[in-house]
Amino acid sequence: MLRELFFNFCLLISVHYVLRFTFRSWPTSRSGPAHVARLAAFAAATLLLLLFPAQPTPGIVLDARAVPVAFVTLQFGPLPGLLVALPALAYRIWLGGAGVYAAVPSLLAVIGVTALLRRRIPAVGPLFWPHWPSLILMFGANGLPLLLLPGGTELFLEAYPLLLITNVLGALIAWGILGERFHVLRLTSHWQAAALTDPLTGLSNRRQFDLDLTAMGPGDALLLVDVDHFKRVNDTFGHQVGDEVLQEVAQVLQREGRGRDRAYRYGGEEFAVILRDVKADGLRHVAERLRVAVATATGHTAAGSVTVSVGGVAWMAVSTTQLTQRADEALYSAKTGGRNQTCLWQPPPPARRA
Ligand code: GH3
Ligand code: MG
Ligand code: MG
Repeated sequence: MLRELFFNFCLLISVHYVLRFTFRSWPTSRSGPAHVARLAAFAAATLLLLLFPAQPTPGIVLDARAVPVAFVTLQFGPLPGLLVALPALAYRIWLGGAGVYAAVPSLLAVIGVTALLRRRIPAVGPLFWPHWPSLILMFGANGLPLLLLPGGTELFLEAYPLLLITNVLGALIAWGILGERFHVLRLTSHWQAAALTDPLTGLSNRRQFDLDLTAMGPGDALLLVDVDHFKRVNDTFGHQVGDEVLQEVAQVLQREGRGRDRAYRYGGEEFAVILRDVKADGLRHVAERLRVAVATATGHTAAGSVTVSVGGVAWMAVSTTQLTQRADEALYSAKTGGRNQTCLWQPPPPARRA
């Protein structure tokens, strides 16, 4: 029995190396096809453990099937836990033998106790091992019903301690594997967000802008927004006030956007806005609305109202570099035209024949 249980224990660990791939992003999805596929994978793992059990006497099968079921219950609740357990329960009932009367209540008890403990113990993470006493409670009921079987006391004394050790130790290692995966996904998601966000203003940064630029299409438009005479703000009021002004401008650009519109810190005191589904004749209106909103909102900063110049271009089938260049040309026109105004890119007039 010891040899078979050890094999089942090793199978449990190996299976969790595969199961961890069912967690692909952070935070973990709790609905949709990916979640259903994940629950199906856990159900398959539970069934697999039951296919290679220890059999101390005919009709009795011992294995670590409760571990994946407890994990799903802990993470997602008792109903998903029960769903994951169902195929294994059905198979166990089909196998028959006296052990059925212990197997079914055992697994249901694990789901029940885990559901009760759920609120008290933290989510599975890389440092889950200090919670081993909770695992003893979780898996403690698993195998207890063996006592109720005819001649069950002897079997209980022989099998229960080994089964409990297999489950608790197996869960600590298997959940450690999943916990590590969660840790990596959490960190990746955190640093991914940090890599695409400007720390001063909280807006998306140039990296995100370059990514989104390639996804622009018909009906979209690009605005470049540059704070006028910003150097003076810094020189007169100091960099801290300058930063405050940049934060205020960023907030306005973000607040004024609609739907899938997105504002970016393009660099220094220059911002970009990608507008979605904007009508050609509405572009100037939107750009002007942003310009006026910035002048109004910055009024209460220590620097007083600051103005911006805006250069805009409606999306056209040119390279992203060319599109940005055109917005930049329009911005340059706004600057040279006296600042605090909007200019939209216009195609150069066709050369006249002599
Ligand atoms: P213009 O109207 O022609 O745009 O003039 P400007 O003074 O706004 O432009 P210029 O390029 O001469 O100066 C931009 C200034 O923005 C210089 C730089 O020190 C400042 N700046 C860039 N990034 C930051 C920042 O993160 N915080 C602060 N406080 N200042 C910044
Ligand atoms: Mg400027
Ligand atoms: Mg500038």
